[in-house]
Amino acid sequence: MKVVVIASYVSELIFRVPRLMRPGETQAGAFREGLGGKGFNMTIAAGRCGAEVLPVMKLGTDAYAAKATDFLRSEGISCDHVNQAAVGVPSGCGVILVGDDGENAIAIDPGANALLDESDIGAAQSHIASASVVLAQLECPVAAVLGAFRLARAAGVMTVLNPAPAPTVPLPDELLALTDVITPNESEAAALTGYGVDGDWRVAARRLQSMGPGAVAITLGSRGVGLLHGAMELHLPAPTVDAIDTSGAGDAFNGALVARLASGHTLEQACLFAVRYAAIQVTRRGTSSAMPWGREVP
Ligand code: ATP
Repeated sequence: MKVVVIASYVSELIFRVPRLMRPGETQAGAFREGLGGKGFNMTIAAGRCGAEVLPVMKLGTDAYAAKATDFLRSEGISCDHVNQAAVGVPSGCGVILVGDDGENAIAIDPGANALLDESDIGAAQSHIASASVVLAQLECPVAAVLGAFRLARAAGVMTVLNPAPAPTVPLPDELLALTDVITPNESEAAALTGYGVDGDWRVAARRLQSMGPGAVAITLGSRGVGLLHGAMELHLPAPTVDAIDTSGAGDAFNGALVARLASGHTLEQACLFAVRYAAIQVTRRGTSSAMPWGREVP
């Protein structure tokens, strides 16, 4: 039940503020540091949901890199394909503002993530080819994701793409064709298709499916997830919870999803589990450290 994650890492400098600031405004807030990045968070979530998970990732040569590998090892996750960039390259870093209403705003320097390349992917070829699922996101270069998905498809391994952050240029047709399951949130679905999701997620989902992926799972925040799988359309509502910090919710969903897929569940069963899992994550502060264990899901 091995999951390979084409992973990013971002040191999180987190400020809790009463509400998100307007341009030019300064507010006092509470500061803490976290370990994150979409791929890193997904890796932790998948591991805590019981998957044997292997991140393929690039770190800088700063103190944050050691913190990241220490945390992965403490979770029992292999760092065999966590590579270091040349001296002077920083690890990815982000400043995250979280308002008391749970909304967030994020600025990111990709740092070493931008240097993950096809040689890093090639070095993990045997793991990709023997995995159950390969999961990727877009904080890493598209070329690296494409390389991994080519290897996965050639070996008959399922591919899951979380197209986040929303791409600013169209994704290669080949990448969408190599994707089995795509998992955008509402704004990413709109960016990829040109259709807003406010009214009906199904329109954007159908458009996205026509672009290549066999299945589309659009995460809808507190409304849960809209799933289009082949011709089947299903809305899976999220449980009602007191959300205090939604950063990392999408990562929680994706990590839990691939862990369940890797252990042989259907896409529908895996989505149902992942919606419930992510709903727990938003009741906690933080991203990777706030990932629940799979056994916490009712
Ligand atoms: P983020 O960018 O903040 O990490 P996202 O925009 O990628 O998140 P969302 O669609 O907001 O992802 O949320 C992902 C999943 O998390 C949802 O499908 C749902 O299961 C859960 N979730 C998010 N917000 C809430 C909420 N307020 N209540 C319950 N569940 C939630």
